Amino acid sequence: MAKVALVTGGTRGIGRAISEYLKQKGFSVAANYGGNAEAAKECEEALGIKCYKFDVSDYDAVGAGLKAIENDLGPVDVVVNNAGITWDGPFHKMSKEQWDKVIDVDLNSAFNVTRQVWEGMRERGWGRIINISSINGQKGQFGQANYSAAKAGLIGFTKALAQEGAKKGITVNVVAPGYIDTEMVRAVPENVLESIIGTIPVGRLGKAEEIAAMCGFLASDEAAFITGATMTVNGAQYIAG
Ligand code: NDP
Repeated sequence: MAKVALVTGGTRGIGRAISEYLKQKGFSVAANYGGNAEAAKECEEALGIKCYKFDVSDYDAVGAGLKAIENDLGPVDVVVNNAGITWDGPFHKMSKEQWDKVIDVDLNSAFNVTRQVWEGMRERGWGRIINISSINGQKGQFGQANYSAAKAGLIGFTKALAQEGAKKGITVNVVAPGYIDTEMVRAVPENVLESIIGTIPVGRLGKAEEIAAMCGFLASDEAAFITGATMTVNGAQYIAG
């Protein structure tokens, strides 16, 4: 039987590429999304997978979504905690709402999803949790105190959980992308984007497919000894020690 993979925010951008890659690798893929039904429909039609609308920042909504996925496809073996948003601003102007929203969607979501699949993975003795962090969680970024905190939080979460999952056949890893050519990055003003590309030694933005390939490897049986790791995929823009 095909293993079941849930990709949160799996209908657009990096998540969509991950959904497509895992489908190609033989997983039975459930792609979650937040509200963009058009993108979800396109994804369902193009990839031949089912998409599930629920808000990853809402614990109960996640529970209901997981129930629907398990009814349709079976227990979830692989989770890619990919859904994320930005809501940037200098800290002296950052509202509590701006802080809370980004922490909820980008960090608390990983608890909401992982907690509710964890016991099943422990019982079955196999699981893969892949948390999509960011270069800006590794190095911090001006104007992104909320986002950098959430993405750095995912790294600590991963390191702790990797130890808890180790004896149960569950690996927990981070993928930390640099700047990837998606809508999130295309929303950055052109002159700012040009200066960002100037700081990437490889000389270009990354491709969503390059993040997907790393996730695909971490989801495989071959990656069983990789756990608690942060896999940096950023064109040498930031080389973590
Ligand atoms: P996109 O904005 O292109 O896609 C985001 C996806 O997340 C969409 O499918 C969206 O659903 C979903 N989503 C957003 N909020 C929620 C929510 N509350 N509940 C459920 N789903 C939600 O993002 P990217 O592909 O650019 O980024 C994907 C991940 O990679 C994010 O975690 C991001 O922080 C991280 N990242 C991205 C980088 C980049 O350069 N793009 C760099 C480093 C990290 P819907 O379509 O319904 O809105």
